[in-house]
Amino acid sequence: MRATLTVLGSGTSMGVPTIGCACAVCQSPDPHDRRTRPSILLEFGGRFVLIDTTPDFREQAIRERIRQIDAVLYTHTHADHILGIDDLRPLSYHREGKIPLYASPEAADFIRNMFRYIFDADYKFGGLARLELKAIEGRFELFGKTFAPVPVIHGDTEIYGYRFGSAAYLTDFSTIPESSYALLQDLDVLILDGLRHKPHPTHSTVENSIRIADELGAKRVFFTHICHDLPHKETNAALPPHAQLSYDGMKLEFEI
Ligand SMILES: [Zn+2]
Ligand SMILES: [Zn+2]
Repeated sequence: MRATLTVLGSGTSMGVPTIGCACAVCQSPDPHDRRTRPSILLEFGGRFVLIDTTPDFREQAIRERIRQIDAVLYTHTHADHILGIDDLRPLSYHREGKIPLYASPEAADFIRNMFRYIFDADYKFGGLARLELKAIEGRFELFGKTFAPVPVIHGDTEIYGYRFGSAAYLTDFSTIPESSYALLQDLDVLILDGLRHKPHPTHSTVENSIRIADELGAKRVFFTHICHDLPHKETNAALPPHAQLSYDGMKLEFEI
């Protein structure tokens, strides 16, 4: 089945432009240099699956005219990936049942604790998002398609990327364990962390990610979680054509 992937946000945790920064990228007039926090939306067979709810989710949803979310997958619980959870509210009201949120058991616990007012509240006056957490440790089915969590190392913690059909999304990682390589074979589309050129303790560089993507033999490669070190146009001109920076609003087709 044909599926569409929309890059909702391609920026690092602080976003680009970064508050208070006067660098050339943060002041760039090129809309490709405006990067909201990292998230993607998948659409297949009339279903809409969101990966992460960033602090920019409201803006992303309005920009992309999102009217329906059928499930959310969480990669991990850093603030730049979860803080938009409350903006699922309007999408959670006009549907049957609660929106299912899939996460690792640790991430599901963290989200339940952090947002107790949503999950444990005994609040009679409405206004809360209608959400339900589902802990996942391996492959699972969603609307007839298989999704696989891909364990990756982000600093000193193991978090999830996801594989679905011929595509995969690995937003935050510093290394990919050998054991996860088997989940990343035969990829038409690979979106992965490409923070900047300079090494970082919890994120992959563009060069490291190109090496990994080439080892995996991914056909089309796009970087995300990009910081203000990388001007879109110049950086892409210097990169190989099969491995480019993504940008907010970019759409890709793949087979699921
Ligand atoms: Zn992040
Ligand atoms: Zn992170």
